[in-house]
Amino acid sequence: MSGLLSGLEALGLGGVSKMEVFEDVETKEKKEAGVEEKHEKTESDYLFEKTHTCPVCDEEFKCSAVRTGKAKLVGTDSDLRPKYLGIDPLKYDALVCPRCGYAAVNRFFNAITTPQAKLVMEQISKRFNATLKLDGVFSYDDAILFHRLALASAVVKRGKLSERAYTCLKTAWLLRAKQEEEETKPGEKEALHAQELEFLKNAYEGFVEAMSKENYPICGMDEMTLYCMVADIGRRIGHYEEAGRMISKVIISRNAAERIKNKAREIKELIVEDMQNK
Ligand SMILES: [Zn+2]
Repeated sequence: MSGLLSGLEALGLGGVSKMEVFEDVETKEKKEAGVEEKHEKTESDYLFEKTHTCPVCDEEFKCSAVRTGKAKLVGTDSDLRPKYLGIDPLKYDALVCPRCGYAAVNRFFNAITTPQAKLVMEQISKRFNATLKLDGVFSYDDAILFHRLALASAVVKRGKLSERAYTCLKTAWLLRAKQEEEETKPGEKEALHAQELEFLKNAYEGFVEAMSKENYPICGMDEMTLYCMVADIGRRIGHYEEAGRMISKVIISRNAAERIKNKAREIKELIVEDMQNK
């Protein structure tokens, strides 16, 4: 049957020329799906080694990164923490230079001025003497450590309020994921939850201040999206009244899209529920 399509190789269509003209599409799809099923993806299948240049010491280094578009989003928490199938890309969001110890979450890694780099060199690099493993699969503990290093650099370089808040939020999400994903020792879950709340509290304070001092978009978010996210963080740390005020602004806003308003209504319900269960 493939003879019908022969001669197409010369046009670069070798693959097409080998196709069976009347092959049942459904059978073919089933066959391909079967191959997919047999190959269970592991976390390392989503990763590759990405090369970065440190903006503080100019060292080139490699660090595990998630292939874009490979991981499938399956949902988000009410504070917009994304959840994926087969891998948690959040673990790979902090970059650490293994030579000088400068670190930052990806979107802020290169956002550093010469005076800020000097501060990092003086206050971090001079003392930094750790050996970090930056290849392969990261554990939640690795990821939490790298995010703490990112927060240290953000504080030392006197980074934007939103950068510090965002780094705290990302760390809180990792602490939450560790509670959900890993076997924990007795009492460990409570300790992790307490740490999560501590990071959320700092994220909340930083974002609230950033909202009045920085220009939008803030960390890639418009005003209404940020209001929803910060209101939910406020709810999680028990700031119900402020959270309620923020969420009402979104619900009554003339500019917010219906999608965001629906999200805001969901958060408002959670606030009401939490206040009743307090
Ligand atoms: Zn460096």
